[in-house]
Amino acid sequence: MKKYDVIIIGAGPAGLTCALYTSRSNLKTLIIENDIPGGKLSKTYEVENYPGISSINGAELAMKMQNHALSFGAEMITSQITKVDTDKKKVILSDNEELYAEAIVFATGTKERKLALPYSDEFTGRGISYCAVCDGFFYRKKDVVVIGGGNSALEEALYLANIVNSITIIIRRDVFRAEPGIVGKVKENPKIKIITKSVPDELVIENDTITGLRIRNTETDEKTIINCSGIFPYIGADPENSLIPDICLNEYGYVKVDTNMETTVKGIYAAGDITDKTLRQIVTACSDGAVAANAIKKSLDSK
Ligand code: NAP
Repeated sequence: MKKYDVIIIGAGPAGLTCALYTSRSNLKTLIIENDIPGGKLSKTYEVENYPGISSINGAELAMKMQNHALSFGAEMITSQITKVDTDKKKVILSDNEELYAEAIVFATGTKERKLALPYSDEFTGRGISYCAVCDGFFYRKKDVVVIGGGNSALEEALYLANIVNSITIIIRRDVFRAEPGIVGKVKENPKIKIITKSVPDELVIENDTITGLRIRNTETDEKTIINCSGIFPYIGADPENSLIPDICLNEYGYVKVDTNMETTVKGIYAAGDITDKTLRQIVTACSDGAVAANAIKKSLDSK
């Protein structure tokens, strides 16, 4: 039977910082990730608000965080988890291996919301992309649409502006959710046009290829086609909570935690974007991870 002091589920900034702190406190630590380490950070082109670093590529920062966490002895595996038994502190992997811990930390983050138009799943990866950093190059010198007015949409639009011919950003209100600084940069960019009070209505498909997006004005109901080769929806995210018991979740599916990042189940913690919080940023995710690690260390020391 494999037993750890701490099992951390998710290797984004919250999970990696938690692992850094627990392993540095000599706790036997395992991080389990089912995708590439770094979470959303690794798909972010540029980070400008991590203290002390004026600008860094997201994948590079994620790699630095991973190397830092592993340098103090934390182990990391890539695996799917089929079940977490929070009472027995047991994690069951897809190959049926069972792992035990004194404490488990959910740092599973959020997953992007998908565009809910007919055929959008079929065209994901060939006309629709949820990762500008991964796929932007395929749209070199072409016209693209970005949907959404949050930080993700605007940051990725600025990234795409270095590659594509033109970008049209569609927002459904006339108010951006993104921080004013980034809104200013977008408005100043000559390659970017903004259309407000509009929502995606239908994919325009010709010869099995996306050639445009029909949008609908939310006030007038008027429909307009925007010619484009690529569509990048950044319309928010939902909590990645499928492994987490309902009693730990709030009405929106985020994890309720106390000031120690502990859930309503003893020994079960959560950190980062998956938690019920007001500010979802790298720096707050890292902070959550450190707080959880410190609380776990204190709790195990007192046993
Ligand atoms: P978000 O802030 O929730 O913004 C989602 C955007 O999509 C909003 O403009 C929203 O419009 C729009 N939207 C939602 N559903 C839609 C639909 N069905 N059709 C059309 N538009 C739709 O999401 P996000 O940008 O992914 O950011 C998620 C979290 O990560 C936020 O807390 C954000 O601050 C954080 N983040 C931070 C950074 C950074 O600090 N550098 C970078 C990326 C993300 P409404 O405004 O009308 O709802």
